[in-house]
Amino acid sequence: MLGFISLSTYYSKLSESAKNPKKDPMKYPEVAIKLPDWFYEFLENREKTFTSLEKRMKFVIELSRLNITNQTGGPFAAAIFEINEGVLVSPGLNMVTSMNSSIMHAEIVAIAILQQLIGNYNLGSDPSKVYELVTSTEPCAMCLGAIPWSGIRRVVCGARGEDAEQIGFDEGHKPAKGILSLEQQGITVVRDVLRDDAITVLKQYQQSGGEIY
Ligand SMILES: [Zn+2]
Repeated sequence: MLGFISLSTYYSKLSESAKNPKKDPMKYPEVAIKLPDWFYEFLENREKTFTSLEKRMKFVIELSRLNITNQTGGPFAAAIFEINEGVLVSPGLNMVTSMNSSIMHAEIVAIAILQQLIGNYNLGSDPSKVYELVTSTEPCAMCLGAIPWSGIRRVVCGARGEDAEQIGFDEGHKPAKGILSLEQQGITVVRDVLRDDAITVLKQYQQSGGEIY
């Protein structure tokens, strides 16, 4: 009904709501990213260092599978590792359906969590810490846009974008070179790591009748 009140009334209502947030529907919601409880149970007592790209990808694909079975989002997961030692620093799950948010892709979630952890929007701000993003499926158009600003130095992918499109997901309008466009921005790209295993999870989601968007 905002169209029927004056702008000054609207702002005065918003300012009232700031004093009494629980009672006033005029206050806008806060948006917070909270990983589901199952993730912490899964991580408990697990080794947090992954010495090879395959081990890092295996962990991420397992997260994507658990995201389906726990019904907390789409068949996509990601994680950021310290590139040399392979220490897990930030996980990401697709939470589009569970958060009612089209931007909550696994890559975005992992980047946002690590930026809060280190207290810096630039993950490349400390030259002694180099981060790599491992993602179960190649980044979509939105994530391809977000990655260069994050300070991530390497991106490692399982399934290809066309594998996600094959089951109906919309990858958006990507640059002509697709994921390889990141290399023009100084980011190393590694593709097809355990691609078949990642595809298996995509198909599992499709067969379970999961929502496609
Ligand atoms: Zn995306």
